[in-house]
Amino acid sequence: MKCEDLLRMLNDYVDQDIDPGICTDFEVHLKGCNPCKVVVDTIRKTIRLYKNDEVYEVPIEFHDRLHQTLRDRWKKTMDENKEN
Ligand SMILES: [Zn+2]
Repeated sequence: MKCEDLLRMLNDYVDQDIDPGICTDFEVHLKGCNPCKVVVDTIRKTIRLYKNDEVYEVPIEFHDRLHQTLRDRWKKTMDENKEN
């Protein structure tokens, strides 16, 4: 799996619409790719925070913002890693 594939899948992951088989590939990629791991950790924390407020239905604005944020963060993380 490439970083681009993972990013694409992240959208489904956020939507909680992901296949458990895909999740395994996901986890494997995360073990070998720190930038993706950082981004996914952030998303997981965000989702968890949201759920702690007992809002299980993610509103569309939050959803769009989350997608945008994860894309920006992912790009930024990837760029930072390339410089090193
Ligand atoms: Zn990656």
